[in-house]
Amino acid sequence: MSDAHGHADHGAHGGAAALDLPAGYKLAPGDPEQSWVEKLFLPEIVKGLGNTMRRMFTPSFTIDYDGTERDNPRKYHQPRDGYRGEHYLKKDENGHVKCVACFMCAAACPAECIHIEAEATPADWNDRERYPKRFEIDMLRCIYCGMCEEACPVDAIALSTTYNVVADSRESKVYRRDKLLELGEQLGLSLSKHTYRPDNIPGHVPEKKHGH
Ligand code: SF4
Ligand code: SF4
Repeated sequence: MSDAHGHADHGAHGGAAALDLPAGYKLAPGDPEQSWVEKLFLPEIVKGLGNTMRRMFTPSFTIDYDGTERDNPRKYHQPRDGYRGEHYLKKDENGHVKCVACFMCAAACPAECIHIEAEATPADWNDRERYPKRFEIDMLRCIYCGMCEEACPVDAIALSTTYNVVADSRESKVYRRDKLLELGEQLGLSLSKHTYRPDNIPGHVPEKKHGH
């Protein structure tokens, strides 16, 4: 029922009429009305605190996050196939950055987050003309699509399965050449051959998966 102004009649629900509900609004059958005890909110607060206390005495469980629990099968976490984590740059057998500063990755990047400055190689580098004087990836713009890895003609850049990507500043999420090279070494993948989903277990060189 409604009055001449179209307001719903909620008389049967006592206090609900005072809510001035919009025309046509109906409380669902059995919509509980708060008892005076519930209106105190104390029982709910006590229930919530009880839940908190219970949790305080339950042993915590954290999946391996920083690579220190590699030997614990319960905690070890290997991202699923297809996961794309942060990049690394590779070195060649002479310890030089493998990148030849061709800009293919930057051209392929849909997020435009790769910035490269090329420079002529030192006189004793006989295998190429240029190398990247500056190589930066803005990880906060990256969408982890993997196009840079696919575009690289010399297998110099790849995405790892790293999932620990937290940082405390925006600046630290701009990865520069030397950091990217260092990541390759840390992950044991600096000299790895192209494999679309490298395993980032430190020291492990992944096997070829797709015939590359
Ligand atoms: S993964 Fe995609 S978005 Fe990120 S740097 Fe490579 S090409 Fe750009
Ligand atoms: S990482 Fe590969 S694609 Fe990108 S500039 Fe270097 S050589 Fe070219």
